[in-house]
Amino acid sequence: MWKKLFKGLGVAVLALIAVLAFNTWRYQPVTQDVEQVELPVVDVDRLAMQLSEAIQFQTISRRRFPDGRPEDFQSFLDWVQTSFPSATKTMERELINGLTPLYRWKGTGAERPILLTAHYDVVPVQDLSGARWEHPPFGGVIADGFVWGRGAMDDKGALVAMLAAVEVLIADGFQPNRDIYFSFGHDEEIGGAEGASAVADHLAAQDIQLAWSLDEGSAVLRAIVPGLNRDIASINVAEKGYITVDIKAKGEGGHSSLPPRKTAVGELAEAVVALQEKPVPGGLTGVSKEFFDALGPDFPLLQRVLFANQWLSRPILEMALSGSPSTDAMLRTTMAPTMLEGSTKENVLPQEATATVNFRLHPRDSVEDIVNLTQERVGDELEVTLRSGFQRGASAVSRSDNDAFNGLALTFGQVFGDVIIVPGLTIAGTDTRHYSRVADDSYRINPFVMTAKDIPRLHGVNERLSLEDLERATQFYAVLLRNTAQ
Ligand SMILES: [Zn+2]
Repeated sequence: MWKKLFKGLGVAVLALIAVLAFNTWRYQPVTQDVEQVELPVVDVDRLAMQLSEAIQFQTISRRRFPDGRPEDFQSFLDWVQTSFPSATKTMERELINGLTPLYRWKGTGAERPILLTAHYDVVPVQDLSGARWEHPPFGGVIADGFVWGRGAMDDKGALVAMLAAVEVLIADGFQPNRDIYFSFGHDEEIGGAEGASAVADHLAAQDIQLAWSLDEGSAVLRAIVPGLNRDIASINVAEKGYITVDIKAKGEGGHSSLPPRKTAVGELAEAVVALQEKPVPGGLTGVSKEFFDALGPDFPLLQRVLFANQWLSRPILEMALSGSPSTDAMLRTTMAPTMLEGSTKENVLPQEATATVNFRLHPRDSVEDIVNLTQERVGDELEVTLRSGFQRGASAVSRSDNDAFNGLALTFGQVFGDVIIVPGLTIAGTDTRHYSRVADDSYRINPFVMTAKDIPRLHGVNERLSLEDLERATQFYAVLLRNTAQ
């Protein structure tokens, strides 16, 4: 009898191995079969000069960062008009709130318009002297194959490449078959209320509904995901939301020489621990599943076995992906306790203690879901309130099976060669949350190659863009418009 049982088990194990192997064998990297096109010739020296000049305007977002030079915003807009003469002559311009230009390139056909956007405000640099910078942050120095300075990647590089692409297309005799809008926001870094949001209102007031929009929010990722050798064009179809919640515990107050067993601070600390021990539920569903499914076949064998056999391995995969902050953030709403406040004196019992927790919402969770979940986790004794102001749910998820997405994917293939195309999720916020009010679908990616070493340069020290990126981005936008507006 035992012999039979072992034999039966042996057969079952062999069958399982066969299934795993078969699924893995079928699970092969997808390569796009794209028709190669001739890339437009662009004048790289001129492009570099244009980005260099753009960086020298100190367009540091106003209001929150008053140390900028407000007059530089207006001069930047004048500079755009004169630096891209055929583009700005061909397109109509409207100024929204005086500082965000909306250009319209009139098309010949009736197909619905599209929108390409970038922003020209920048975040401040910590020390204006730029002591830690290899080149002055607002110098726009061109050296070692890069243009250096604040805004090179985020996001003046994209703006220059878009306008340069229009110039190239005009010189080529290109005529769009649909309206193409370009919007260049002046306040993205402080929320976009007067720029992008007002542009969306302006379009909505004229009953203009865009087929799709394209903005920053991702890049062509190189050697960022361990184990993957091919570059990844993460065309982000959604962005996370942002809320901050205050959790309040109440106490009796009084002198700390006669304390209760648990003070308000202690009670609050337990609540924070309870929250941290149980992350917001997440996993490989929705946009997270789409993202990892697109990457899965390119992983080394062991991981590929897991990705190819998710019917069996999903819990293991989810556990592994939760282990690192960058992949965990793709799976769920993240939670970060960031501030604590208790009594104002060391020997006074707190009458109130507050913990502040910042959440980045995955598209599967609503603001209400997260507030309710927080209340549930910390218990009824504590008061949970949503902070007012800068709070927003996650964006809608745009399609990745339509003409717009396919047009973007095709263009990446034609301009970047062999890249993995994935629909991704932007972890931070972009102006797109405003534009998407008037667009059926919204995509977020700048056609720049980004390595792990480039990420800290964003909003950090030594921001720069390579001449190669600048040239390729210009070609990218030109080919994209040929693919989608001709
Ligand atoms: Zn930006």
